[in-house]
Amino acid sequence: LAFSELGLSAAMLAAVQDMGYERPTPVQAASIPEVLAGRDLLAAAQTGTGKTAAFLLPTLDRLPQIRAKRGQRRVHGAGPRMLVITPTRELAQQIDGVCRQISAHTGHRALTVVGGVSYNPQRSALQRGCDVLIATPGRLEDLIQQGAANLDEVQVLVLDEADRMLDMGFLPTVRRIVKTTPDDRQTLLFSATLDDAAVGSITDLVREPARVEI
Ligand code: AMP
Repeated sequence: LAFSELGLSAAMLAAVQDMGYERPTPVQAASIPEVLAGRDLLAAAQTGTGKTAAFLLPTLDRLPQIRAKRGQRRVHGAGPRMLVITPTRELAQQIDGVCRQISAHTGHRALTVVGGVSYNPQRSALQRGCDVLIATPGRLEDLIQQGAANLDEVQVLVLDEADRMLDMGFLPTVRRIVKTTPDDRQTLLFSATLDDAAVGSITDLVREPARVEI
């Protein structure tokens, strides 16, 4: 199977080539067509399987940018259309890196907010607007409570390493965050395993999902 058989646009195929990926990994081959079709997803995939590109390539391919046309002014303060929640700062930074490589081809604006650093630059960046927000749960909830982050426009939600977020005690926080996003969003849930013990308590956040277990 080749990347060109998955339904991705030419811009995405150029991004893939730029990143040096020759063939889709199994989780990418199984997930990308489902996500492009607009379906929710429950995917069992650990770090190292290519899961980051598995969720970023098809979602960004479907996501309209804030600045649709060249030269058009950015919409100040536009809220994120896509939200990625991930348990740790390191994972957030990895996702940010892949997102930037892809965005070089699509023009999407990514913003990453994590704990342990000062609030003000994050508040200002949120005010300027972004297409994709990548966040750890605690900091994102703080920013929502402060009125600095607004998730009303989120069309796509990714819960990355969901089992780990649950292990870390983030379930109540994640639920409160997700409650502020629109019900008709597309939701993708990634976890090392899909056992009920691992993610059974949050599978209500996806609707009629495609299941990917490689
Ligand atoms: P991830 O599972 O998203 O953390 O990705 C693990 C590593 O695999 C990263 O270093 C990616 O750059 C790399 N990778 C992802 N997809 C592919 C692919 N299709 N071909 C080769 N390397 C890839």
